[in-house]
Amino acid sequence: MMTPKGIKAMLDGGVKVRFAPSPTGRLHVGNLRTALMNWLFARHHGGQFLLRMDDTDTERSKMEYERGIVEDLKWLGVDWDDFARQSARNDRYDRATEILRNSGRLYPCYETPEELELKRKIQLGQGKPPVYDRAALDMTPEEQAALAQQGRKPHWRFKLLEEAVEWDDLGRGPVRFEAGHLSDPVLIREDGRPLYTLTSVVDDGEMFITHVMRGEDHVVNTAVQVQLFRALDFPVPSFAHMPLMVGADGKGLSKRVGSLGIGDLREAGIEGLALVAYLAHLGTPIAPDGSSDMADLIRHFDLSSFGRASPRYDTAELEALSTKVIHRLPFSQVQQRLQSSGIEDVDQTLWLAVRENIETLDDIRNWVKIANGDVERPVDLVDDDLAYLKTAADLLPEAPLDDTSWKTWTTALKEETGRKGKQLFMPLRLSLTGLSHGPDMGPLLPLIDRDRIVERLVG
Ligand code: GLU
Repeated sequence: MMTPKGIKAMLDGGVKVRFAPSPTGRLHVGNLRTALMNWLFARHHGGQFLLRMDDTDTERSKMEYERGIVEDLKWLGVDWDDFARQSARNDRYDRATEILRNSGRLYPCYETPEELELKRKIQLGQGKPPVYDRAALDMTPEEQAALAQQGRKPHWRFKLLEEAVEWDDLGRGPVRFEAGHLSDPVLIREDGRPLYTLTSVVDDGEMFITHVMRGEDHVVNTAVQVQLFRALDFPVPSFAHMPLMVGADGKGLSKRVGSLGIGDLREAGIEGLALVAYLAHLGTPIAPDGSSDMADLIRHFDLSSFGRASPRYDTAELEALSTKVIHRLPFSQVQQRLQSSGIEDVDQTLWLAVRENIETLDDIRNWVKIANGDVERPVDLVDDDLAYLKTAADLLPEAPLDDTSWKTWTTALKEETGRKGKQLFMPLRLSLTGLSHGPDMGPLLPLIDRDRIVERLVG
């Protein structure tokens, strides 16, 4: 594992990273974590962040997904310095294909998927690794021409050099692959469309990407891509492969689980800042406490603090963090959001009085109702309490009520009735808010109209 010092020394030339989602679905916590690692790394080092749509899969890529990804990133405050779409760069991939063909590193193959599957099964049956046998390399030009005549279209494979590929992974430490154990990857499909293995290298190379940070499910791709970078004469970027998250039960996270979608979390009222802080710390020894803002997260981001074990993503932990974040939010940061959610009548005083009693922003509706609407009197007030509440109505200070009114009021009530503690306070809280728990009554009292208070007390 590289030390922070080592990473810093390496970065002096300027950092450029990318997040390259395939717009075949919305963002989920798994790929958002990759996005955040790259973004925080770039911002921490004063580098650049590229958002690239890996949309070469024309059947599955959709504009609505691209828009969704952009919307989710914007919601979280993740911005980019550069934007690219692979579908607009086919000429670049054609050029790279030409270079590889000319240097003898790209060769046509005519096997059908069924033939390949059969070979694979035979190899596995013989206890051998299912590595492509390069039979296509033994075909004569005549045999190829004959197949082409029959209308068979080739797919194209990249010829790996029989040498070990090694790199010092910023997530995993030193990695070594024997290229002889890998299949020559298909770069071009039968219909001529280039595949991810090629397009990603061409883009990373031409766009001067210095660091590729992604999930460890890409380690084998990297082994192949390192050779491809070299074959195309690009500098090889540094790589960091991060362990994939697992669920709270220790099992793999599936992106099909609806509740892991960023849009769903947002709908459920999770704070964006909490989501960023949670994912940015998952896998490190630090547990976020809701006190960091985005600038803090950027400042403290440290790739070397991530461990090698699969971190556990736990929705309950995220929700708890989100609540902590809400409890600290200044009014300036929620004013606009309240307005756009159609929640009116919340001013700074109300916000500060109740923010620590809500779990999601939407919960504030209850407190707006308590301040300005109707409250149902709880049924469990006994006769004795009803008489007490009448006395309370008589002793309520005159308008305007202020921060000191609650104290004045309850002191007078204590003297008059001899009640104290819970007996003194609970009937007041219950009749004024309809709830047995909630914020300090001191700041809350002046937020309720005096006539309303009297009505609730004697109602
Ligand atoms: N589009 C690829 C994916 O979403 C990108 C992988 C990479 O970072 O190279 O898996």
